[in-house]
Amino acid sequence: MLTIGVDVGGTCVRASVVDPHGEILQTHRVATPGTGPELNAAIATSVRALADRYPVAAVGLAVAGFVSEDRRVVRFAPHLAWRHVAVADELAARLGLPVVLEHDANAAGVAEQRFGAAAGAKVAALVAIGTGIGGALVIDGEVFRGAHGVAPELGHLRLVPDGRPCACGKKGCWERYCSGTALAATAVEIMRTSGEPSTLAALPEPTGVDVAEAAAAGDPVARRAMAELARWLGEGLALVADVYDPEVVVIGGGVSGSAHLFLDAAIKHYAAAVTGAGHRPLARVSVARYGDPAAVIGAATLAREHVLAISTARS
Ligand SMILES: [Zn+2]
Repeated sequence: MLTIGVDVGGTCVRASVVDPHGEILQTHRVATPGTGPELNAAIATSVRALADRYPVAAVGLAVAGFVSEDRRVVRFAPHLAWRHVAVADELAARLGLPVVLEHDANAAGVAEQRFGAAAGAKVAALVAIGTGIGGALVIDGEVFRGAHGVAPELGHLRLVPDGRPCACGKKGCWERYCSGTALAATAVEIMRTSGEPSTLAALPEPTGVDVAEAAAAGDPVARRAMAELARWLGEGLALVADVYDPEVVVIGGGVSGSAHLFLDAAIKHYAAAVTGAGHRPLARVSVARYGDPAAVIGAATLAREHVLAISTARS
């Protein structure tokens, strides 16, 4: 059975035909339109362009935003025009195909747990480190969403009381210390307070990517910033492990491309900070198998499993 996964991002709508092994057969991309009706139309056009060429059974949408408990409605998505829109039902009626909806981090978590770095794990956590932290928990193969569908907000666990302010309204959230944005902020702080020379000083506003490149080239300030990120990653992993005791934690997101610069140190911090350190099994910490396509593969997989569950229930 083939299904289509659609990653509805702030800049681009990416739709792919995915097979039962998580392999992508073809992808269609369009720029994300600015209004809700145009967005629905753009998704429908992308899906039809693929469905004309492949016999697809269902569609899965991955959205960066709040999804209702029944996963039919997008309540709020900061980078999209949808506000309380019954996206799944509107698109299902338009396309004549079953449509499922999922938060994009959860979809990425499913892709990793079915086919990727956490394949087959009973308790798997995804920590996607990009501009912020996206988190997902897959427990016994099921996405854990909490009672109201908003769990887990791993990026907003408070690690530092009265720490850096976060857009969520709190201070000291994990993602303010462990993200691409945080990496840049830490490097700027180190330059300001230590006066240490750095190639980053020539840049008006260094980004996380700039810091990662400078660290790879041996810049001492960038390396210190990377060591700070590793420390906070380890501290946060220890909290995640204390609550969920995962078998595997998958580190994804854009920053995971620089994992060779921080992962070993992060694992040491995690192993030292977790409750009962030295006297308990630790989670395996692995880099994600999938980069950008993770959400598309996970959404398509959830769509396929939805169709299979319906046909099992009927037979
Ligand atoms: Zn926050």
